[in-house]
Order: sequence, then C-alpha cells, then structure tokens
Amino acid sequence: MEWKTILYEEIGQVARITLNRPETHNVLNARLILDLDEATRKADNDPNIRVILLCGAGKSFSSGHDLSPIPGDDLQQDYRDRHRRSVEDRLDVEDEYYLSKCLAIRNLKKPTIAAIKGNVVLGGLMLACMCDLIVAAESTRLWNPSIRHCGSGGEVMVLPFEIGFRKTKEYLWTGDVIPIHEAERLGMINRVVPDDRLDAEALKLAERVALMPPVSLSMTKRAMNKTQDFMGMAMAFEYQYVWHQMAHATKESADWNAEAAKHSKEKGFRGWLEFRDGPFNEQAKK
Ligand code: ZN
Repeated sequence: MEWKTILYEEIGQVARITLNRPETHNVLNARLILDLDEATRKADNDPNIRVILLCGAGKSFSSGHDLSPIPGDDLQQDYRDRHRRSVEDRLDVEDEYYLSKCLAIRNLKKPTIAAIKGNVVLGGLMLACMCDLIVAAESTRLWNPSIRHCGSGGEVMVLPFEIGFRKTKEYLWTGDVIPIHEAERLGMINRVVPDDRLDAEALKLAERVALMPPVSLSMTKRAMNKTQDFMGMAMAFEYQYVWHQMAHATKESADWNAEAAKHSKEKGFRGWLEFRDGPFNEQAKK
C-alpha cells in the first residue's frame, strides 16, 4: 500500500514508518493521521514484523497538529468544519483524530520505538509518547506551550505519566522547552544520541528488541499497558480529554483567539507566535 504522507519500509523484522512532510516539520494534518493509523495497523498485523519504528523525515519529528485549510483537500476541510461547528462536534472530531488514534498506537500489540529530533511539539510530543521506547537526538526540542494559547496540555495528557506531576505543572505553566537531558533524567527518554547517529541507534535498538520471542514481547507489553491503566492512566486520559474540551470552549480562550487573530491578520503565523510567546521572551531577558 502507498501513502502520500508517510514512508513505509521493511528492514528485516523492523517496520520503519517515517512521517514524510519534512517541508512542514511533519505537522500532523488529517491525511497524515489517517495514513499513520493504517500503516501502524499494517505493521502490527504483519507476521514478519516484530518491532515498529516511528521517525520523522527532515529536521524534526513533528511540530504538532495542523488545522489550516489545504486547497482541494476535502478531508482537511471536513475536519476543520467539524472542529469549528460546535463544542460537541469538536469533542467528536478530536476524539476521532487525536485521542482514539493516539491510544490505538499506544495499544498496538508490537513494541514501538520513536526516534525523535528537532521539533517535538504539542501533538508531536503526544504522538512520540504513545511509543514504548524513545530514542532522542541532541537537537530535540520537547515543547508543550499549549497553556500559553489557552489550551490545557493536549488531547492526551501524557506529561504527568512521563515526568511526574510537579514537573508537568512547571513545564505546562511556563510553556518552557523541556531540556532533552532533563527528559532523559526524568525517565521520559530512553537515551539521547548525537543527531548523526539517531537513525542508526534507533534501528539498532529495534533490531535488538526484534531478537526477542515476539509473543513474549507482546504479552509483556499488554501486561505493562494494562498495569498503567489499572493505576489510573486510561481513566485519567478520558477525564483530562473532557477538561481539555472545556478549555477550548472558555470565554478566556475565545477572547485570546480573537486578539490573536488580529496579529495573524497583520503578520500571519509569525504574528500569532509573537503574540503568544512575546511576553515570555521579554520576561526571560530580565
Ligand atoms: Zn483540542
């Protein structure tokens, strides 16, 4: 099967799936999310594949979600229309594209490894955290600035389970980048490698895991994921998802977006970013 937005390679018993929109830093639009879902399921159901490796083409793993219209792309338009129509439509469409699709990757039967670098931002960070293991390049910028634009941490609130609650609050409430070695120290990242070694080290780890008996790998993964669920993770994700929808629907969010739109109109996305991050950059200089 051929996909427009991803590359699919079989390297021995490893399926390497590469997000392939490098000119956009692999932002996740509707088509990419559906393609990735199909590709990961194909790998999971292929008896010749033992490990699934998820990578990004170009400089970054992924810069997050992209709701912007693409001329002639009906899928993206439909997604965008539903997102804007009503609170209840947004709850459904974000579940369909983000929550359910992320959890489907998290619950694949086979081990998954994310090889990350460059921008790993918002939805990109969420996606990386769905994988069982993470190998990161030194260049990785783990960043969730969602509260700065009146979000609430994302559709799947992964950070508390990755770096602990106190550190999560710090990074969400400042919107600061999580330094990659700090992420490694906190247990979010398995290992950090030089950028020019990322592909080789991630593949080497995948090939090492692939030497293990596959049924035992799968049983262990299921047991570990269920243990996390019994510890409250599954319920927490559901609960946080609803609060995140509430954050989309607040007056504060509406007011912020109206103000941000003025800046976008003047200077495009750069204006939006300046409006969002400017006060933080100014404060950091003091
Ligand atoms: Zn959302």
